[in-house]
Amino acid sequence: QAKKLGRNRVEFFTPQLQSDLHTERQLADELRLAPVLRQIEPFYQIQVDARSRHIVGLEALARWRHPEKGLLNPAAFLKVADEYGLTAEIDAAVLKRALADRAAWVSQGITPPRIAVNISGRRLADPNLIEGLQALEIPRQAIAFELVETIFLDDPDDRVLANIDAIKEMGIDIEIDDFGSGHASLIGLVKLKPKRLKIDRQLVTAITVSDEQRRLVGSIVEIARTLNVEVIAEGVETEEHACILAEVGCDELQGYAIGYPSSESDTAALLKSARTSGKNRSSAGGGGR
Ligand code: C2E
Ligand code: MG
Ligand code: MG
Ligand code: MG
Repeated sequence: QAKKLGRNRVEFFTPQLQSDLHTERQLADELRLAPVLRQIEPFYQIQVDARSRHIVGLEALARWRHPEKGLLNPAAFLKVADEYGLTAEIDAAVLKRALADRAAWVSQGITPPRIAVNISGRRLADPNLIEGLQALEIPRQAIAFELVETIFLDDPDDRVLANIDAIKEMGIDIEIDDFGSGHASLIGLVKLKPKRLKIDRQLVTAITVSDEQRRLVGSIVEIARTLNVEVIAEGVETEEHACILAEVGCDELQGYAIGYPSSESDTAALLKSARTSGKNRSSAGGGGR
């Protein structure tokens, strides 16, 4: 019996692990088809000018409308996507849907703000990326890319840098996501010359904890200024956060205190009402999660 187990190495393969792997592989199989079946869709979270609170942007956040499990957040599928090499497909699906949504809004008489789409490091290094983007005929200044996989940003290789240059030439802004939480170094920042950086939620949350933390965020804003880079604060959860961030010079705000990520139709309604109210002003905390 022991000999048999040894030969088949079943002793390392517990029933629990086996069933986890099965579930994961099944999820990956479903996820592979999800973009084709139009199950991947963007939810949109507004970004506002820190002083006027007018809407200046939207971040497109991937959601998976799973036929049995319902609406899934990235936490439920991005890890599996990454392990099975499916992230780039998801990124591409979100971008396509965002462009289609944008075109629909334009035809409804809405002037859409810029839409920020997350892009993984793997996709950024893809030699076919630029060709694929050119085929989409993206209007200039319509889209920004948020670089989420900061691993590449410490020491970006030539292909990544060339792709980033080509992206900028297409009129797409480059933004660095989650700044201050990980790998994006100052040298990387100088090399990439992004249009804006997004201060990580953890740093934003900390501004009400101590004076020191608040000055830290102020210093990041100053560094950004030095490099001619705009600053968005993400994870703005309270009005106090919003006021302090405006005070220390953040250009734009995003977070639950400003608005929750919302479906295409809720977002269209919000953009319409912002327009008819003549001020393009957000309703604080508006929209469902
Ligand atoms: P992220 O790009 O930093 O996006 C912000 C996340 O924080 C979103 O979660 C958003 O719903 C959440 N958030 C916004 N405001 C607040 C707030 O005030 N408080 C708190 N606690 N959270 C807030 P979500 O949609 O679950 O996305 C999580 C992460 O998944 C994103 O973080 C991004 O890294 C990744 N992601 C989302 N969509 C895509 C995509 O299309 N492609 C890729 N590669 N990654 C994506
Ligand atoms: Mg992002
Ligand atoms: Mg972010
Ligand atoms: Mg974040």
